[in-house]
Amino acid sequence: MKILVPIKRVVDYNVRVRVKSDGSGVETEGVKMSINPFDEIALEEALRIRERGEAEEVIVASIGGTDVQQQLRTGLAMGADRAIHVETETAPQPLTVARILLKLIERESPGIVFLGKQAIDDDCNQTAQMLAALWDRPQATFASRVELADGKATVAREVDAGLETIEIELPAVMSSDLRLNEPRFVKLPDIMKAKRKPLDVIAIADLGVEQGAGFEMLAFEPPPKRGGGKVVGSVAELVDELKNRGLL
Ligand code: AMP
Repeated sequence: MKILVPIKRVVDYNVRVRVKSDGSGVETEGVKMSINPFDEIALEEALRIRERGEAEEVIVASIGGTDVQQQLRTGLAMGADRAIHVETETAPQPLTVARILLKLIERESPGIVFLGKQAIDDDCNQTAQMLAALWDRPQATFASRVELADGKATVAREVDAGLETIEIELPAVMSSDLRLNEPRFVKLPDIMKAKRKPLDVIAIADLGVEQGAGFEMLAFEPPPKRGGGKVVGSVAELVDELKNRGLL
């Protein structure tokens, strides 16, 4: 079985995100970029499945400009067997990403497509669900534990009330939640080895995917500045203050 792990290049989660001065987007020039954290978790889980002998190959795929090859190389250094870069200069929206992934599925026939539950830049949380619908296969999103047996997956999902456990038939789409695992660190020899692993580049035009206009970004604004705090002299004053502000 192959596992396909789509990884997105995003601004590193430790970086304070800044809106461009003209409000046209988020500043990425000179900013540290990383694999979307949830995609790292998905990749770690795919690698553990392969290491248990339940899959033969882990393929990382990323859609974007040439820069995404840095994150693909990191994915290869973590342990993925090969990488696919679908090249496009326009940032694709979730529906386009799902359509592109469907084309990769047609080429690779994976048993699992393991995505992150959401990209931390757009917070869409849409791609896995759209892909499952387009592929017409089951989905287990927000995965917190995954066990495979007899062509099926038992997946514990993080839901508001706690954990929900479901069973789905493979092939299927999964998306990782935060507590699924702790991704491994990349070691220097693995970075060297990753340079020799295959990385195929496919032009988006060769996949015949229509890049439909889903939504239009109208504006970006930073969150409002927080007002200063107020020191109160007693518990009674604190209670009064909260009441006055309608918080109690
Ligand atoms: P989203 O629906 O945008 O929150 O993204 C959910 C997941 O879809 C991500 O965690 C990735 O696994 C995948 N994904 C989104 N955009 C891309 C991209 N440009 N390239 C590869 N994978 C992507």
